[in-house]
Amino acid sequence: MQVQDKVLQVVLPTPLRQWFDYLYPQSLDPAADIAAEVPQVGKRVRVSFGRRELIGLVVGVSDQTEVPREKLKPVLAVLDETPLLSEAMLAWLLWVARYYHQGPGECVLSALPTLLRQGQPIEPEHPPHWQLTDKGLKMTAAGMGRAVKQWRLIELLRLDPAGLPMSVLRAHGFERDVCRRLQEKGLAHEVDVIPKGEGVGLPDLQHHTPVSVHKDVLAESPLTLNAPQREAVDCVISRLGQFAPAVLLGVTGSGKTEVYLQVIERVLAQGQQALVLVPEIGLTPQTVARFRQRFAREVVLLHSGLNDRERLAAWRAASEGKADIVIGTRSAVFTPLRRPGVIIVDEEHDASFKQQDGFRYHARDLALVRAQREQVPIMLGSATPSLETLAQVERGHCTLLRLPDRAAATRTPPVPQLLDIRNRRLQGGFSVPLLEAMQRHLDRGRQVLVVLNRRGFAPVLMCHACGWVAGCQHCDARMTWHREPPRLHCHHCGHRQPLPDVCPQCGEAELLPLGAGTERGEEILAARFPDVPIIRIDRDSVRGKDRLQEKLADIHAGHPALLIGTQMLAKGHHFPQVTLAAVVDADHGLYSSDPRAMERMAQLLTQVAGRAGREAHAGEVIIQTHHSDDPRLNLLCQSGYEVLAQQLLRERRESHWPPYSHQALWRAEAPKPEAAQALMQALADAAQQQPVVANGSVFCLGPVPAPMERRQGRYHVQLLMQADKRSVLHQLLATLVPWLEKLPEARRARWSLDVDPIELL
Ligand SMILES: [Zn+2]
Ligand SMILES: [Zn+2]
Ligand SMILES: [Zn+2]
Repeated sequence: MQVQDKVLQVVLPTPLRQWFDYLYPQSLDPAADIAAEVPQVGKRVRVSFGRRELIGLVVGVSDQTEVPREKLKPVLAVLDETPLLSEAMLAWLLWVARYYHQGPGECVLSALPTLLRQGQPIEPEHPPHWQLTDKGLKMTAAGMGRAVKQWRLIELLRLDPAGLPMSVLRAHGFERDVCRRLQEKGLAHEVDVIPKGEGVGLPDLQHHTPVSVHKDVLAESPLTLNAPQREAVDCVISRLGQFAPAVLLGVTGSGKTEVYLQVIERVLAQGQQALVLVPEIGLTPQTVARFRQRFAREVVLLHSGLNDRERLAAWRAASEGKADIVIGTRSAVFTPLRRPGVIIVDEEHDASFKQQDGFRYHARDLALVRAQREQVPIMLGSATPSLETLAQVERGHCTLLRLPDRAAATRTPPVPQLLDIRNRRLQGGFSVPLLEAMQRHLDRGRQVLVVLNRRGFAPVLMCHACGWVAGCQHCDARMTWHREPPRLHCHHCGHRQPLPDVCPQCGEAELLPLGAGTERGEEILAARFPDVPIIRIDRDSVRGKDRLQEKLADIHAGHPALLIGTQMLAKGHHFPQVTLAAVVDADHGLYSSDPRAMERMAQLLTQVAGRAGREAHAGEVIIQTHHSDDPRLNLLCQSGYEVLAQQLLRERRESHWPPYSHQALWRAEAPKPEAAQALMQALADAAQQQPVVANGSVFCLGPVPAPMERRQGRYHVQLLMQADKRSVLHQLLATLVPWLEKLPEARRARWSLDVDPIELL
């Protein structure tokens, strides 16, 4: 095979599960290009695709193609001077696409910020310049003979003895191949241009040079570690440069962040970078502030609040190695790092690490694989590790580093008290004993924290005269009643409508709230405690940039106050003046069809309990339930999360449920229920033909209507596949996905595949 026959393998922004072959661009001679070892892999290209032009990324160069030669089109343009993604990063991204059975384009391109996906040029800050050599300066037109284009380039370069960057030459119609011909003749060369006063050269993906090693790492002195913290830090830094997963188990106040900081200090001192994943940056301003305070290095944040320009700048700082610490939410796991040194996933149990639509990846799981490929240690921090992570510890794949509660040395943490509310009168969900307990703590000048895990005023609007309830016209769901601003809101599809004045069914004006959300809880508490400031924290109340910070500042002022909110309130914050923490309703975790509900409820209760009596004052924790005799709830209160988690793991093992088996959930949706049902039935039938299903290695459960069958005006049907061996399941999926893609009936319903689902909705 000739080099001229080489094709570029390009991934494009389409959901199709394949890459596309293109010829080298006409301006580029493949033979010269390959001889000069110019890397094309990792660069963006513009190509024509159908009738459109798309921006894609080269993921491979091959001399094999299944497309007839004459049908191949050349790439229209190569957009980058140097690869944007290293080959190692690309290999990982392609693995991710295979693992989740996603199109490689969607997956690989998700590692690029929007502006780069749109084809915006990326200029190195100090691009190398083409410069004439002495021989080139003396060259004459006659000496160049018939190489007219090369002569014109010499004339252009002569105007600027310091040289010109490729972008300028290109604007004059010269491509790199002309430059290279001058180089071969010894007439021109490419030189690095380094501005005065800057000792740092151009970033180069191929070499791992510690560019910023000489700058100071610390801006302030580290804190003194206690023995368990010291042990944790030593354990991780003794394994820098190798894959070493560790769970850092400790409640808020056990000093997890200081462990992260001191591990990162060592990583930076070695000239490497740290990637820190957090559930939600807006919720952890204190943590981010501590990183910035500690280090004299650039810390960049990647989160949904950035505009496209800011995102590109942060991405470049990370991938070119200028930023030493990259802190980001879920999608930051795809950020390329030039000198990766450690990955940290804080609050690793948090469900926000799983993307729940489109490309459904789990950032914690991907971080583990990435750490393994990059041979760096990874720390998973949590007070309530996920059962998946605890199972990894049990299997010996992950080191458990336990940080005891420092406050517990002087004071026993409170045992949560189960308050049975069977047959008790409730005022918007609050029982009299709970309200009395609040009064006691407020009278002592303390703060009270109440978690009510529902937004809005009331989850249901009901007519007292005829029993009509406000349902969503698009979903099998009730509309939530909001007061600010007044509206009905479906939390499943986002549909909003004005509040009716009278019942649409009977015409009476007796519309009542049923149950309570945080807005109503706030109203009831305000009536009961008129002199106490009430601070509500939920997704609705903290909209707008600085609202949450303002509210947190109010709380930290330390006066008596009531804090009411959703589980947002329980995440990561430190409230030293809170002495009573209460959960209004613990029941929906106990009797749910979702096998993960108990794990989540236990995590929430543990986090809420951790809010009470953090400092000098003794705390109290009250949990309202209709099932105070529930054995698991009692085990949690008496023995703590770890002991309950061990029991939940035993239950999961006995029922062959993850993490002791592997699942994939197929979903189909269509305007008509029959279409979705028929597609999933066809899939189930096709699966039955496969030996691994026939012999029972893979179980198929379904197809069944989704727990909420009608959502956004479409009917949802699902099919669950489960196997003890991951590889067996994935082989089956790899057979079924292309089959389904080609199935004509598949066009009548939209389908998706969720590998390792965490919600069966
Ligand atoms: Zn009515
Ligand atoms: Zn709402
Ligand atoms: Zn709806």
